[in-house]
Amino acid sequence: MQRIAFIGLGNMGGPMAANLVKAGFQVQAFDLSAAALETARAAGVGVAASAIEAVREAQVVISMLPASRHVESLYLGDAGLMTQIPAGALVIDCSTIAPASARKVAQAAAARGLEMLDAPVSGGTAGAAAATLTFIVGGDAQVLERARPVLSAMGKNIFHMGDAGAGQVAKLCNNMALGVIMAATGEAIALGVAHGLDPSTLSQMMAVSTSRSWATEVCNPWPGVLENAPASRGYTGGFGNDLMLKDLGLAAEAAVAVGSAVPLGELARNLYSMNSKAGNGGLDFSSVVKMLADVEAV
Ligand code: NAD
Repeated sequence: MQRIAFIGLGNMGGPMAANLVKAGFQVQAFDLSAAALETARAAGVGVAASAIEAVREAQVVISMLPASRHVESLYLGDAGLMTQIPAGALVIDCSTIAPASARKVAQAAAARGLEMLDAPVSGGTAGAAAATLTFIVGGDAQVLERARPVLSAMGKNIFHMGDAGAGQVAKLCNNMALGVIMAATGEAIALGVAHGLDPSTLSQMMAVSTSRSWATEVCNPWPGVLENAPASRGYTGGFGNDLMLKDLGLAAEAAVAVGSAVPLGELARNLYSMNSKAGNGGLDFSSVVKMLADVEAV
């Protein structure tokens, strides 16, 4: 049985680690939060006292942390985890981070003779729980074949995008488009409602017309249109505004690095930043519609 160390048991990492246990892997996990460790233990995940202890006998090390700085501080430096991971182990970082950070950590792994992939995910907390995530992978194609059985226990689609960092670039492209589409969908529905249209009928029409999208059909930003969307439960749960803001910031940095113009991505980043400053940073990102309409008043 393969031994896996899992670092970062938050909204995504917790259910992902639990799915590895369900698939028969032996998992030793660590998180800085005692509550996250307790939830993981209840789901049958083995819990370690530190990240170093978790990786001690690991054949695969997976991390699922919030941002670049967490990933760099976990792995890099003289006291970093990279110096503790057993020879021959495979390292997979599933966090969404800057492509440059992913390349830096991959170089540190290579310097120690370890194989590494960046494998950010799409599919949200529901996909993490149902083991239906999409993995967006950067790194060596042969290393991905080695990782495939592990990734398949947590997801159903795997895309190889290119060398180290390419998974992160592709993930940022997806999320930049998503951030723009969500804001555009909210703006369009707000315009219709201001003209007296019913938001549900308008959304049903859009869902079978040329503006159809996940934002209209699955995560509609208007309260009451879709019973199971975050908008219909006070924008709780789902994908946080501040995580979208982080991803749009990373997309902007990635654009500067290669001189790409991303005017809509930048505009969307400003909207999510305003939403965060309005106190909605912890709400689902579809709450960005609050910057475009008084949704509580309708
Ligand atoms: P989260 O904040 O719920 O979980 C992160 C966890 O990492 C926390 O439990 C925290 O205590 C832990 N942590 C931080 N530093 C640590 C360290 N040094 N050692 C051990 N544990 C540490 O975040 P999340 O929603 O699980 O997201 C994780 C990553 O996945 C982010 O990069 C996010 O952008 C990405 N992502 C999230 C979603 C989503 O819907 N939530 C979807 C796709 C991708």
